[in-house]
Amino acid sequence: MRTLTPKGTAKARLKALAKTGLSTLLVSSGADRLIGRRYGGQGVILMFHEFVRSAENTLGQGCPVDDFDAILAALRASGREFVGADEALRRLTNPKARPFVVLTFDDGYRSNIDLALPVMERFAAPATIFVPTGMVDRTINAWWLGLRELAVTCDVIHMEPMGLKLECRDLRSKQAALESMTAWVWQDFARADLLAPVFAAHGVSMPDLVDRLALDEAGIRAADRHPLVEIGAHTTTHRALRLLDDAEVETDIGDNKRYLEALLGRPVDWFAYPYGPPSIGGTREANIVRKLGFRAAVTTDPGSLFRPHLDAPYLLPRQNGEVPASPVSHALAGANGAFRALSTRFGAPHDCPEISNDH
Ligand SMILES: [Zn+2]
Repeated sequence: MRTLTPKGTAKARLKALAKTGLSTLLVSSGADRLIGRRYGGQGVILMFHEFVRSAENTLGQGCPVDDFDAILAALRASGREFVGADEALRRLTNPKARPFVVLTFDDGYRSNIDLALPVMERFAAPATIFVPTGMVDRTINAWWLGLRELAVTCDVIHMEPMGLKLECRDLRSKQAALESMTAWVWQDFARADLLAPVFAAHGVSMPDLVDRLALDEAGIRAADRHPLVEIGAHTTTHRALRLLDDAEVETDIGDNKRYLEALLGRPVDWFAYPYGPPSIGGTREANIVRKLGFRAAVTTDPGSLFRPHLDAPYLLPRQNGEVPASPVSHALAGANGAFRALSTRFGAPHDCPEISNDH
């Protein structure tokens, strides 16, 4: 096994720096508002995961709650209204409706309630929390949390499946180790299944870790009763759907819907696909989501919402709201559709996916 002291690649650091500089430049020059005329649409769905008081203990992961506060203040100052997910769809039918922002949090973390909810209450901003069953019943392989726990708690990680011994004794090498292990799984999500022995060998108990960070059944039920919170579906096991055959996809999503509906005693109409574009094929999953009776589903593709999205709202774009550097500029540029403009090289402001809508 090779021994490595990860330092992070210069390329990755440069890329992060360029992204940070870009959103700041776009916002300070007003270019994002110019882009917004074509790409801003009627509103935007923002995505967050965990919230933290300080990102030091999580190696930079999670949205610091002070940043969340500043993002919401900047969005409100820009004239946008915070609305729930259903209201966003209603507004798409009215071209004169005020521009809106929908907040979404993935995975069902305790910090959504402990840290984010008080900020949401101050802004009267609703949020949808997308919850995998495995997170609530502690059966999930939350490999991304396991890898972070390894990097935080170990000075040396024997990462057998990568054939590497990672030495990470300081903050920088811990962050770089986490980055390289995470990138390794993203290259092929099937690798997530190889990590259980690594976690066990380093004393990381997945159920304990998930229990520490994620809401339990009582917490999910209480959250859903809050007027500003709605629970949405996020699969049973949080595996990359591309790895599963049609029947498995239907079971993984459908079982989660039925579980949450039984827990909450109401229909669960919204769904979020786990991970980003590499984890889903697209229309296959969207057709299954439609068949299962969801009203709408969100991806992690950047972009704003437009009237044509209503024709088949099963692959709605969603802007990442959680970036460590210049979070406010990033959120404003994202709300104006700047990242959709850039990722499509100033192509079409929205897709017209071919999903049959004949239910
Ligand atoms: Zn997720």
